[in-house]
Amino acid sequence: MTKYVYLFEEADGKNKQLFGGKGANLAEMTRIGLPIPPGFIITTEACLEYYANGKKLPTTLMTQVRDKIKELEKKTGKLFGDPDNPLLVSVRSGAAMSMPGMMDTILNLGINDRVVDRLTRANGNGRFVYDAYRRLIQLFGKVAMGLDDSYFDVILGEAKKKVGAKFDTDLQVQTLEEICGDFKRAIKKELGREFPQDPWTQIEIAIEAVFRSWMGKRAIDYRREFKITTDMANGTAVNVCTMVFGNMGNDSATGVAFTRDPGTGANVFFGEYLVNAQGEDVVAGIRTPKPVLHMKRQMPKQYKELEQVRHILEKHYHEVQDFEFTIERGTLYILQTRNGKMNAAARVKTSREMVRENLLTKEEALLRISPEHLEQLLHRRIDQNTRVKPLAQGLPASPGAAHGKVVFDADQAERRGMLGESVILVREETKPEDIHGFFRAKAILTSRGGKTSHAAVVARGMGKPCVVGCEAIEIDDRNKVAIVDKHHILEGDVVTIDGATGYIYLGEVPTVEPEFSPDLKTILRWADEIRTLGVRANADTPKDAAMARKLGAEGIGLCRTERMFNAADRLPIVREMILADTTQERQQAVDKLLPMQKSDFKKIFNKMQGLPVTIRLLDPPLHEFLPSVESLVWEIERLKEVKKSLEQMETIPDSFKVLLEPSLQELVPPVAHVLKELSAIREKELFDELVEKKEEILRKVRETAEVNPMLGHRGVRLGIKHPEIYKMQIQAILEAAAELIKDGVDIQPEIMVPQVCTSQELKQVHKWMDEIRGIVEKKYDICVLFRFGTMIEVVRACMRAGPLAEVTDFFSFGTNDLTQATFSFSREDAEKKFLPLYNEMQILMDNPFEILDIKGVGRLMKITIDYGKKTNPKLKVGICGEHGGNPRSIEFCHTLGLDYVSCSPYRAPVARLTAAQAKLREMARDKADLENPDYPFNVFFQDLG
Ligand code: ADP
Ligand code: MG
Ligand code: MG
Repeated sequence: MTKYVYLFEEADGKNKQLFGGKGANLAEMTRIGLPIPPGFIITTEACLEYYANGKKLPTTLMTQVRDKIKELEKKTGKLFGDPDNPLLVSVRSGAAMSMPGMMDTILNLGINDRVVDRLTRANGNGRFVYDAYRRLIQLFGKVAMGLDDSYFDVILGEAKKKVGAKFDTDLQVQTLEEICGDFKRAIKKELGREFPQDPWTQIEIAIEAVFRSWMGKRAIDYRREFKITTDMANGTAVNVCTMVFGNMGNDSATGVAFTRDPGTGANVFFGEYLVNAQGEDVVAGIRTPKPVLHMKRQMPKQYKELEQVRHILEKHYHEVQDFEFTIERGTLYILQTRNGKMNAAARVKTSREMVRENLLTKEEALLRISPEHLEQLLHRRIDQNTRVKPLAQGLPASPGAAHGKVVFDADQAERRGMLGESVILVREETKPEDIHGFFRAKAILTSRGGKTSHAAVVARGMGKPCVVGCEAIEIDDRNKVAIVDKHHILEGDVVTIDGATGYIYLGEVPTVEPEFSPDLKTILRWADEIRTLGVRANADTPKDAAMARKLGAEGIGLCRTERMFNAADRLPIVREMILADTTQERQQAVDKLLPMQKSDFKKIFNKMQGLPVTIRLLDPPLHEFLPSVESLVWEIERLKEVKKSLEQMETIPDSFKVLLEPSLQELVPPVAHVLKELSAIREKELFDELVEKKEEILRKVRETAEVNPMLGHRGVRLGIKHPEIYKMQIQAILEAAAELIKDGVDIQPEIMVPQVCTSQELKQVHKWMDEIRGIVEKKYDICVLFRFGTMIEVVRACMRAGPLAEVTDFFSFGTNDLTQATFSFSREDAEKKFLPLYNEMQILMDNPFEILDIKGVGRLMKITIDYGKKTNPKLKVGICGEHGGNPRSIEFCHTLGLDYVSCSPYRAPVARLTAAQAKLREMARDKADLENPDYPFNVFFQDLG
């Protein structure tokens, strides 16, 4: 016979899967001697059995329950169903994971007509007895029998009106007795069944009701929302617990307490209680409870006991606890405890303080802060004290809150931003050419696109607040207006957006500073002591570099030179370079770029003194620097139209003369004057020249156009076809380095080649490098040390990692491109067209562009490292794709033995913490797991696919 039922003292307080969280903790608290009312637990196994049997209780279950009730009777000296001395119990739900309010609990089981009648007569406290009965019928009727709450509410409401009672507590015996009668009649009338008088029937139905609530809509929705899988919680346990009463007079009370303040983390006793009330009254807000500190005066003895419980609980659980208590006629009982939910700041503060108090080790403290928590702390937030109604909600794409004036295009964002105005860039969706607007905008809002849309990705990279896909907003950028419901938002109107929640507000909503508190700094310092994985940042500008350093990055893992090419003063020269007809012309343009790049590099090296800086040679296809075909065609047509209009205007004076209207005749001289000026312009043939120039550009743009540019002429392929570009960049890097070395600055340059697929490509670039290095070293009379490496973002590079490693000092996985290459997905198309469906159908569990595809891309990384280290044991390996900032991916990188991850500067603290957690979890792993030949994949493979 399977044992389904355990007394609190029999159950294993560590086994939440079997006993549920509430049950396990009741067992544990009983074991450590806290005052818990006697009770027992029906296991989750019984719940699963119930469903497996087509919703029938296991046959032996009720016999086992009867046995345990006997034990409760022995302990309490009361008898179940006995009218003179009845044992009353609660039947409470509780799964392995806490799902507050999602499942059902029934109180006061064991009362019936006979019991109330005799009890009232016996002890004279009829009010109390009938109130308990009324609660039982109400809860039982609703939860176990399924009668809608409103029937009871109406009856209760009318009864209160009749006697002029404001609160339930104002009701007298007689009214309560009537209410009980009305409740029972309502059940009979609406359901055609009686409220069961037999306590054994009551308890059986109640147990079933708790089992059923596991598959209730509320509970199912909750599990889906919070991604609670069956290996986290499977079925609910049922806790049957002797009733204790907080509503037996002024020496009774009930309350909820936290061992520390969950809002601030401060080490103060925190909670609320109500005198002469039952547990659910506190939660239901029927009366306003008092802070638990008031008990010190009102019930000093019990307060002292509670303080003791507070310390015992923290000492035992090594975690902040959230617990329920009830005082019955002066005696304290604890009814529940669980780990306290806290906000991010409180979690950080308590982590630090509990280490100081020897309640936690540093390691435990680090593990109890999730990377998501940390993220919350690193951004400006909406002040939680303000209660402003949001206007609309989109998808929260990049956390942080900001307010500013609405602008509808990137140029305007740039212009106004440069003038020092706070602006929010609002668009249907954004494109790469909007990037200059991003730099100057405080935040970005789009009405279309998902969390991986261009706007979202770029904003996250820059650490700017961003809300995307806010479909309630209709954007008309030609007329510069956004419409939400009846609100018209015009350019210049102020809005506030919250990238953590996706809310949009009209006007300015107060925000608060991110909290980089001393506590957080300490926690991150501990993380740095423990982690072995390096953390670098992707940074393209000196400003980003400074931020990276400030946030604890230990170098730059990716500095993209194309961003420097895109700057307003560079772009015309870059275009010159691309459009040049002869090598000589091209060289001229390149020569102009050299000093600019050199000064960029010097600034970044300077900011990163003592730390490595990886500079990637030019990567994107050239057409990205050119205007689009559409815009050129449009411009050319406009120019031609203007020219034609001018020609037509010249005939105006002649037409006026022909018309012989005196009023028109008067106009002939001024019009003729204007026309003379205009024809002077025309004679200069400005328009023809412009049209010609634009047409020439258009021809070139068409020439450089590629069918599939991302697989086309880019990266090292471009470098080899146009050596002058790469040579210029190498020279700029080496000269910048030489000049700084001369000034005594400690620098560690690294040159990285993108898109490599064969070692021959690397050898070619290396040859140029050797030549240039010779020239530079001679010019400055100094030795320039640097490292040479390649990105790994092509599948062939993975398979040929051996030869690649022979000519390089480091590999850096460019997992954005490598993911595209591995899946043969084009990212933009995939995310727009079919990835959401794939996720929904669970063909793919995640978006592989957000969360590293460990099974596919991860395998390739492993193969690459194995091959690479075989030919070059000193090879350093890092990652610089967006995945470098994703916690799960960071953990995998650690496990794979990478030397560093490189992520957006704003994610560096998250990476530092995650790297430490990865190390700690690795240390805690079983030997068998570690020695598994498939390690680390065996520990990461838990899902489908
Ligand atoms: P939840 O999981 O929704 O908190 P609980 O099972 O904890 O549900 O019970 C709901 C309320 O009833 C709580 O306030 C709890 O303290 C109270 N309660 C539960 N069992 C008892 C009992 N045996 N005696 C007194 N109050 C109880
Ligand atoms: Mg509870
Ligand atoms: Mg790439």
